[in-house]
Amino acid sequence: MNPLRLPLLESVFCAVNLGAIVLDHERRIVLWNAWMIRHSGLGHEQVLGRDFFAVCPDLRGGRVDTAIQHALYNNFPSLLSQTLNKAPFALYLRDERIQQAVEVTPIAVEGAPRHCLIQVSDVSIAVGREKLLREQAMVLRSQTFSDGLTGIANRRHFDVAMEKEHRRAKRGGTPLSLLMIDIDHFKAYNDHYGHQKGDQCLIRVAAALAGVLKRPCDLMARYGGEEFAMILPDTDPEQAWLMAEAIRARAQELAIPHERNSDSSRLVTVSIGIATQAADAPVEIDTLIGAADRALYQAKRTGRNRVAALSPA
Ligand code: GH3
Ligand code: MG
Ligand code: MG
Repeated sequence: MNPLRLPLLESVFCAVNLGAIVLDHERRIVLWNAWMIRHSGLGHEQVLGRDFFAVCPDLRGGRVDTAIQHALYNNFPSLLSQTLNKAPFALYLRDERIQQAVEVTPIAVEGAPRHCLIQVSDVSIAVGREKLLREQAMVLRSQTFSDGLTGIANRRHFDVAMEKEHRRAKRGGTPLSLLMIDIDHFKAYNDHYGHQKGDQCLIRVAAALAGVLKRPCDLMARYGGEEFAMILPDTDPEQAWLMAEAIRARAQELAIPHERNSDSSRLVTVSIGIATQAADAPVEIDTLIGAADRALYQAKRTGRNRVAALSPA
């Protein structure tokens, strides 16, 4: 054998840009490369010949322990998935714990019981990138479900929530109420105060009305231009009426001037249509929406700034 080969192999083992540890059959540390020294702060004199779990007590009983047993006693290699424990070894780079991928491989040694090689690679960059992508995906997701102007749920969110609550109401045998809310004479508001003031008015009304909702399962969405929809699960006609009245009053309390409103208060007001699906008589979603729309039309026709209810038949 080339006499240079052993020292060369040792130098290569030390120079590789990942952590490399070799354990003997008794799980004593035989090799511990320079990368491990650099990132663990433990030198050869502190680790070589010692029991692996005396050096790394935190790993006892965990997945690395199991992987070592598999390698030494069952001749099985293991690649530890990163999703469960991203940083099993106490390894640091500039005070940050290194995110790790760990691989444990059985090593056959001529004339001696099996050893195992533990490779630890730094996957911090990949993990960081993954986290960033996940965060961006969450932001995008929230954007696709919220209205750009008012920040409340958008029509898409409404459709998804309606499907879910409709199914839930049918399954649970509970009533489901829907409110359609529309700002009165808003075209005239825009014409009189300008579109920008119109936008500000929409933002204020949306925030105030959404604030009336208390239960986490209730949802208020911007259904279209100056029209909002509220899904009220497990809410009967009487409760829905009380809620609609509270909302109508809340809009008026904002006291936003509206010179061109037909209402004598000359403030911004809303009209509301209610439809309730009874617990024992589920209907199609379109039927429920259609009934709330017709009720809204009735509230408009009978003077605005008022509530009307229709049953979805
Ligand atoms: P009604 O009392 O019958 O509801 O009368 P209206 O004028 O409110 O109803 P109409 O549907 O005729 O007009 C709605 C107006 O809402 C027209 C449109 O310019 C305005 N609008 C819709 N979306 C926006 C928006 O995002 N910003 C602003 N500023 N105005 C909007
Ligand atoms: Mg309107
Ligand atoms: Mg409208």
